[in-house]
Amino acid sequence: MESYFTVLRMSEVTAISKFACPGCGGEAVWTPAKKALVCPYCGTVSPAELKADGSLIEENDLVSALRSIPDEERGWAAQRKTVRCQSCQAISVFDEKRIAQRCDFCGSSSLLNVDDIQAPIRPGSLLPFKIAETKVREDIRRWYSGHFWARSNLGDKALTDTLHGLYLPYWTFDAHAECPWQAEAGYYYYTRDKDGRQQRHTRWESASGHVSEDFNDVLVPASRGVHESLLSALEPFPTTTDLVPYDPGYLSGWVVEQYQIDLIQSAQSSRDRMDNSLRSTCSRQVPGDTQRGLQISPDYSQQTFKHVLLPVWLLTYTYGSKNYQVAVNGVTGKITGEYPLSWIKISIAIFLTLILLLVFMHYSN
Ligand SMILES: [Zn+2]
Ligand SMILES: [Zn+2]
Repeated sequence: MESYFTVLRMSEVTAISKFACPGCGGEAVWTPAKKALVCPYCGTVSPAELKADGSLIEENDLVSALRSIPDEERGWAAQRKTVRCQSCQAISVFDEKRIAQRCDFCGSSSLLNVDDIQAPIRPGSLLPFKIAETKVREDIRRWYSGHFWARSNLGDKALTDTLHGLYLPYWTFDAHAECPWQAEAGYYYYTRDKDGRQQRHTRWESASGHVSEDFNDVLVPASRGVHESLLSALEPFPTTTDLVPYDPGYLSGWVVEQYQIDLIQSAQSSRDRMDNSLRSTCSRQVPGDTQRGLQISPDYSQQTFKHVLLPVWLLTYTYGSKNYQVAVNGVTGKITGEYPLSWIKISIAIFLTLILLLVFMHYSN
């Protein structure tokens, strides 16, 4: 069974005394810079407001929903070891017998054992790996050589030695939306001017309508280890069709990144994605030849979210002082990555362009 957590529509305001982290139950710390409670164990950032009398107030549906998840839906259901990287802050979870030397995400060796963490929310489901390591190595080599501006002297070793298969944490949000819209629909009509040329005009009429939409698995990444720009480029994942129920057997031999959530941000970004989708559905309903001033007023209900793990092959290497990542979707094989630029190639290109320009100017005079 996939486990779903219903977002309780509770807008009641709860005064909190011990600042328990909604993600893991550990004691969260008020962080003025973020104006939020930050959990030192699992990284969860939950919204809170500091009152004039020094007390903290929380007001968030997600926070209440997370906090109501019982103990039996927490933990990995297997003995696992947890470390936090001091450099990139990613939290990695792996087989107990394995000894981690370096962070799989940034290569740093400053890893801290996380012992006193309370059990995180257990993933409801996951997508198993479909793309084999040998194919990923080949694909990355081909991808890299296809990028002309990349340095060509990195060598095969740097490019494939640090390839890791990782399960990344995501939240997926479901909701039902009822969305009335208003807009002005434009209808073209034509007249002829005194010279007989055709002129186009627009007649504007107000229009309105209603869209109902069910959102399924709107993805929000909860990874800290993979660079943000790569995460969005890795999508889509076939979550609506291929998810299997969580079983610790799938994780054995793999490293899992434990979620770190910014609750304010993930709820907001799932809502933004739904708003955008509604906006384009409504826009398609506006009659006429053109439109302007589209306004939508969505009302969301039946909101649920779940925690899932998605497979990614990650290559990470340091060049100079910078850390580069290449990520491959473990189901579809889609590649996205960063690479150091070859300044020699770029300089030669600029030089050749200048010469061509000079030659061109010489002959055009
Ligand atoms: Zn926590
Ligand atoms: Zn790291």
